[in-house]
Formats: sequence, structure tokens, C-alpha cells
Amino acid sequence: MAATSDILVIGGGIAGLSAAAELAKSARVTVLEGEEQVGFHSSGRSATMLHYALGDRLVRALTLASRGFFDSPPEGFGDVPLGRRMAVLVYARDDERAALDALDAELSLFVEVERLDARGVRELCPMLKDDNRHGIADRDGIRLDPHALLQANLRQLRSRGGELRTGARAAAIAFRSGTWTVTTDAGDEHSAPILVNAAGAWADDVARLAGIQPLGLQPKRRTIITFDAPPGTDLDRLPFAKTVGDELYFAPESGRLFASPMDEVPTDPCDAQPEEFEVALAAHRVEERTTVAVERIHSRWAGLRTFTPDRRPVVGFAAGAEGFFWLAGQGGFGLQTSPAMSAMAAALVTGGDWPVKDVAPEDLGPGRFGQPA
Ligand SMILES: Cc1cc2nc3c(=O)[nH]c(=O)nc-3n(C[C@H](O)[C@H](O)[C@H](O)COP(=O)(O)OP(=O)(O)OC[C@H]3O[C@@H](n4cnc5c(N)ncnc54)[C@H](O)[C@@H]3O)c2cc1C
Repeated sequence: MAATSDILVIGGGIAGLSAAAELAKSARVTVLEGEEQVGFHSSGRSATMLHYALGDRLVRALTLASRGFFDSPPEGFGDVPLGRRMAVLVYARDDERAALDALDAELSLFVEVERLDARGVRELCPMLKDDNRHGIADRDGIRLDPHALLQANLRQLRSRGGELRTGARAAAIAFRSGTWTVTTDAGDEHSAPILVNAAGAWADDVARLAGIQPLGLQPKRRTIITFDAPPGTDLDRLPFAKTVGDELYFAPESGRLFASPMDEVPTDPCDAQPEEFEVALAAHRVEERTTVAVERIHSRWAGLRTFTPDRRPVVGFAAGAEGFFWLAGQGGFGLQTSPAMSAMAAALVTGGDWPVKDVAPEDLGPGRFGQPA
């Protein structure tokens, strides 16, 4: 006998848990997570920064719409802070200045940014080399705490009567008489009329299991290293600092520094591991753009950022497949956009008011990939 709910969510990352918590306001929701813990894949491996230099205009609108949630989380989210203030610095050499000007114009539509000259750049981030003469700063960025965010969503889900099943990998999915039935690899069955596909890098695989046309999602590996800061560095005052192009970012991390070469290596869905080349590239780029010598790499990890073909996330019902709902393609911005994404998912599933102005449902629906909305 299958356990029944109103809504099944596949995936216990930030996408699945935040949507489940929101949907549980008005429905019985069960989340199925294949791993033994939540956030084991992308959601637990991110750089955890909320900033506006990520994505295109639509992604920035989703970030802006999510921002207030992190500043003052709703009732029931507990009193654990979901992040801490950290300035964001985007810096450039003379030859990169045009790109910085363009980004400045774009960011100014969403957030108050400050233009910095060489002195301002140095004051905010003393370890940058002198040729990084131009900068824009958002003094009000947030370094998110993904553990706090995942746990708060889980608490919210449970307090609303929803449940999470871990070690419950969807192995087969069938649709009969208006009901989706998911069989896990342990042989348990769960059924509901609505199935939310929030399986991150595996979302196309889950669609295939359900007999739904995949969207062409592409997981891309990104690598992070941590290493010691020079003695005497005031880590508390350092910003999240990134090149204007996709070359390098770094920031303070638990008494050290972390850095990423902003790699995007196309990969099959997997438990991503760092490769020597990108680890070395990260250290090389730190030494190229800053005065820091990376003498010893303390730790390293990699995670997948999964993109749709237009690099915008997908949220909406699949056409011609009653009750199959896409919530995927959050790329490198899935933590910072999770409040808006889950609110939009809830509005589409339960028929509530559309929550994000400047973004229309069809901008994000699967219809734009050839599946009619
Ligand atoms: C290095 C790096 C840096 C990043 N930096 C940032 C940042 O600064 N800011 C930001 O907002 N975002 C950032 N991101 C992106 C962010 O982490 C992702 O967008 C987000 O975590 C995606 O969440 P998700 O829930 O879709 O995926 P996941 O967290 O991967 O969750 C999907 C879950 O589905 C489960 N699953 C898959 N198949 C099945 C199945 N068949 N049955 C049951 N369960 C299944 C998986 O086990 C997994 O737990 C970064 C990511 C990386 C890797």
C-alpha cells in the first residue's frame, strides 16, 4: 500500500525543502531525498553568497525579491540568523573597465552600489594587487548559512505537518488514474496527484523516469579551495571579492580564505569531486590577482551548478503531463533565490497570487524549451 500525500517532492536540497515548507501551508507534503542527509549535494557545497553580480536581469529580480526573507525570516523559521552581512567587491584592471561599467549600470537597477577608485579598492581589500584599480562595492551583501537555511526550512515543513524521508531515492515513477506513484530503491511506495521535481543535477533523470521529456539541463562542476590568509589579516573586514569576468572569487571562510577559479566543467550528475587542474588553477589565480602566496591548500571541494539552456531557472507544470512540476536549473544562485522560487512554486501549484513583480510565470515555465506551458 503506497503512503499518500497531496504533493510529493523529489529532492532534499534547498529547492525541494523550501518549496515543500511553503506548500505545506495548505497541503500534505512528503519530501523524498535519496541521500541520508539533506543538502548533501549542491546545497551543501556552495559559496553561500547573496549578491547581484550573479546571473542575468531576471535572476537579479529573483534575488531582490528574496532579499527581505533573509533579513527578516517569517514566523516559525526560528531565531537562528540565516547569514551575516559581508560586503561584495567586484574589481577590475584598466583593460576590464568597460565590463565593470556595464555591470555597474546593470547592478544599479537593483541595489545601491558604490563606485571605488584604486584607493577605495585597496581599503576594502588590501590583498589585491595594485593593478586592480577599479571597483564597485555593495556594502550590504549577505553570506548565507546554508545549514541554518536548510534546517529552518525543514523545521517549517514539519511544523506544518509535512515530512521528509531520507535514504529514499526515487527508482521508478508511474502515473495512473491521476496519481503519481514513486517507488524508492528500498521498495517503498509513495503517491500523490502532484509530483515536484526538485532533484537538482538529476532533474532530467527524474523526468525520464516519469516518462516526461527532459529539458536539456547541464550540471557544471565548480571547485573551491581553502588556504591560510597572511598573518595579521583582519578576516572579519574582508569582502567577498570577485573579478568582473568569470575568473576568480575569494572571501574569508572559518578563519582562512576560500577561493574558486569559477570553473564550469560540464559533468554528468554525480557526487562531484575536485580535480587537480582546477585546484591548481584556483591557487594560480589567487597569486595572479592578489599578493597572497597559497603555500598550502587546507581543504578543497567541488559541487554541481545545474543550468537550463538559457541559464534561467525553471518553475512550472510540464505540458501534457498532469501534476508533474519542474523546479530546477538554479545554477549558481539557488540559495539566494530560494524564497522567491518557493513562493512562485506555491502560487502555481496551489493557485495563489503571483508573488514576484517584474517576472512573469511564462519567463520561467518549461514551455520556453518547447514544452507548451
Ligand atoms: C561551488 C558552488 C558555489 C555556489 N555558490 C552559490 C552562491 O554563492 N549563492 C547561491 O545562491 N548559490 C550558489 N551555488 C548554487 C546553489 O548551491 C545551487 O543552486 C542550489 O544548491 C541548488 O539546489 P537544489 O536543491 O536544486 O540541488 P541539490 O542541493 O543538489 O539538491 C537536489 C537533491 O535531489 C536529490 N535527488 C536527486 N535524485 C534523486 C532521486 N531520484 N530520488 C531522491 N532524491 C534525489 C539529491 O540527492 C539532492 O540532495 C553554488 C554552487 C556551487 C557548487
